[in-house]
Amino acid sequence: MRTIGLLGGMSWESSALYYRLLNEAVRDRLGGLHSARCVLLSVDFAEIERLQVSGEWDRAGELLAADAEALEGAGAELVLLCTNTMHRVAPAIEAALTVPLLHIGDVTADAVTVAGLRRVGLLGTAFTMEQPFLSDRLAARGLHVLVPDPVDRELVHRVIYDELVLGVVRVESRQAVLAVVERLMAEGAEGVVLGCTELELLLGQDDVAVPVFPTTRLHVEAAVAVALG
Ligand code: GLU
Repeated sequence: MRTIGLLGGMSWESSALYYRLLNEAVRDRLGGLHSARCVLLSVDFAEIERLQVSGEWDRAGELLAADAEALEGAGAELVLLCTNTMHRVAPAIEAALTVPLLHIGDVTADAVTVAGLRRVGLLGTAFTMEQPFLSDRLAARGLHVLVPDPVDRELVHRVIYDELVLGVVRVESRQAVLAVVERLMAEGAEGVVLGCTELELLLGQDDVAVPVFPTTRLHVEAAVAVALG
């Protein structure tokens, strides 16, 4: 089993989910007492969020690249950056590593393609919905990406930063985000990408009429496939 490196803490609520899903996936594959061989480096999210808001992406990239190097030094043979948003600086992280960074956009695009879909709605932070780093990555693999309108983007962003990263899951917010999904479906979305690693704490396939692509779960499943060969 290869050692998986988790660069997390963005937020720790989703990193906790990564850790649980990773161990469950290895147990399901190997049975018995098997669990995932992994290393977690969990950052202080307040520091990263401050750099997001001030647009200091290069500085954030430097910090995360150094942390990724530390993960490799601790034995990681494959690295997962446990956030969609910070894939904005994936190139800086990749440049610091000699082991692979498993890009969350690639595993998501592959899952959508395997499901036979092409037009997907993308939910995430405003950074993820408004900047091209994730949409372009999905488009490069043949997908057509729809994002919510500005009012809906603001709503989803607020639910993520004011609630989900703090571990707050509200029924009212679930209903509001589901209404955003329905508007994307009315525009032609055949499926919806939960392009924020906390969103699957709020909603899942049972809530939505079209296929849902939860990025944390997909990222973990792809990593376990690589780690176990
Ligand atoms: N975990 C979230 C994501 O997947 C948002 C927190 C962050 O900005 O990293 O984008």
